[in-house]
Amino acid sequence: MYFTEADYQKQMEERITSPRDLKKFIELPEDTLSAFNKTKKLFKWGTTPYYAALMDRLDENCPLRLQTLPSLHEASECAEVASYDPLLEGENSPQENLVQVYDDRVAFCISDSCASFCRFCFRKYYFEKKKSAAETIDANIDYIRKNKNIRDVLLTGGDPFMLDDDSLEAILKRLHEIKHVEVIRIGTRLLCTMPQRFTPKLVEMLEKYHPLYVNVQFNHPTEITDEVRTAAATLLKAGIPLQNQSVLLKGVNDSLPVMKRLVEKLLTARIIPYYLFQCQLVAGTAHLRARIEDGIEIMRQLRGYTTGFAIPQYILDTPYGKVPLSYNRFVKRDGDHVLLETFKGRVWREYNP
Ligand SMILES: *Cc1c(COP(=O)(O)O)cnc(C)c1O
Repeated sequence: MYFTEADYQKQMEERITSPRDLKKFIELPEDTLSAFNKTKKLFKWGTTPYYAALMDRLDENCPLRLQTLPSLHEASECAEVASYDPLLEGENSPQENLVQVYDDRVAFCISDSCASFCRFCFRKYYFEKKKSAAETIDANIDYIRKNKNIRDVLLTGGDPFMLDDDSLEAILKRLHEIKHVEVIRIGTRLLCTMPQRFTPKLVEMLEKYHPLYVNVQFNHPTEITDEVRTAAATLLKAGIPLQNQSVLLKGVNDSLPVMKRLVEKLLTARIIPYYLFQCQLVAGTAHLRARIEDGIEIMRQLRGYTTGFAIPQYILDTPYGKVPLSYNRFVKRDGDHVLLETFKGRVWREYNP
């Protein structure tokens, strides 16, 4: 089983961009309708028919709705706390549409659009910038070519897979030709919101540019469907590893059973959990942000209770780099021994002079 160009074109042509279109899929309460109006100027809105069909028709707290639909809470968050650019990417950009925090890798924005806009997007600022991604591609490839320490290029946006196959290939080809670029990764949410994008034709093109990695984003177990398994299998067959980056979101996945189900279900689609991100202080997300202590507690309770490689690293991204948020299992040093707490709470004394 695989998706055809027609499946993908249908999703694009029927993309949902108004509450009226969305009403064919779910019931919209007055509050949400008024949130559409009040947040119009704050952030773009849109999703795919595929993703809308996964939403609960009636439940306003449906985790997919919470991620995608505007809320009245958004307009009320005070501006001093949260910003449109919490990672100060504006300051970390040596050139427009290129973010460099680490010496050996860059995030290169090559697309200005997404199939489905996440309310917690940390690049809300990005949709208001001076130059389009297309205008800066040449200059940014030049920058990567001139900076020989860059060995890892992360393509992002927007969503890189919103480009057509030929435009994406033109970029991959030029990066692949640069000797010091050892790996290319593509960050995308489309495997989750529009799996139809991953056709055999696209994947045949991608596999020419190995070593190529694709980082995806699933935040709730109901997002992992048969369609996702089909699209994931198409990519995996071409040897493209899939790693998941989730965001910890209140009411969506900030509970142990949901997070455990999410990471376990990812493995059934052969997607490896990579990062769990603390939600950034993005304007309009106060109602979606869980506390760091709660995230750490979920992480502590996963270890030992599920497959080791189902457990992502919990991370807070900052303008100065990613910080792992870890629990402590080191109890104390006792002479020539150290005392360590194991997963069910029993303490182990390890000889360690
Ligand atoms: C997250 C990020 C990367 C990639 O970091 P990894 O830990 O290697 O996944 C690269 N550049 C920027 C600016 C980032 O924010």
